[in-house]
Amino acid sequence: SFADLQLNEWVVGHLGSLGFNKPTPIQYNCIPPILKGKDCFGCSKTGSGKTAAFALPVLQKLSEDPYGVFCLVLTPTRELAYQIADQFAFIGKPINVRTCVVVGGMGEYMLKQAHQLQKKPHIVIATPGRLADLLRTNENNVKLNKIKFLVLDEADRLLDKMDGDFTEDLNVIFSALPKERQTLLFSATLTDTLNEVKELSTKNPFFWKS
Ligand code: AMP
Repeated sequence: SFADLQLNEWVVGHLGSLGFNKPTPIQYNCIPPILKGKDCFGCSKTGSGKTAAFALPVLQKLSEDPYGVFCLVLTPTRELAYQIADQFAFIGKPINVRTCVVVGGMGEYMLKQAHQLQKKPHIVIATPGRLADLLRTNENNVKLNKIKFLVLDEADRLLDKMDGDFTEDLNVIFSALPKERQTLLFSATLTDTLNEVKELSTKNPFFWKS
């Protein structure tokens, strides 16, 4: 059960009320090492509960140290970004988690997003292009140098789209992040590019594949 994973009582109780009674395999295997402070690389298909596998330990750490944690989640599409934000809000309701979605596209105003970033959200969920643009212009002095967790969600798809620009975007983002952090990488498949990024972003990660 979730109670076997070193999750706090409020998390376990709240999960029960959300109808999450049993951890999925990726949750069962990845949550304990993440709570212990390890980097983690989890590989499992879509719909296997990956989001909660990183959201639960991040939210638990946030509840223990509300001023210390600030988590950046990078994901390939705006739709996924909103879904992840919803799950963080859903699971993190008892601790009033503040999320901020930073994505490109029509109707998504850069200034508004920069302004939301100023309000010190706990969790920022972003697509790389827009976040890199915000960091490049840096009109609003967006700072990511205090984050505790970096999550690369759907890392295979993040890198599928990789052309010159995408690499450059990720470089801009990585160079704005502190070296001291936990990096969590989740994806459905393992590709060569993914291995490269794994080296770039994680130090001796706990590895789990379904
Ligand atoms: P994901 O693979 O992260 O996209 O999650 C797929 C769906 O499963 C989401 O709607 C989650 O809210 C739900 N879910 C994740 N973990 C559990 C669990 N342990 N028990 C029940 N539902 C879950």
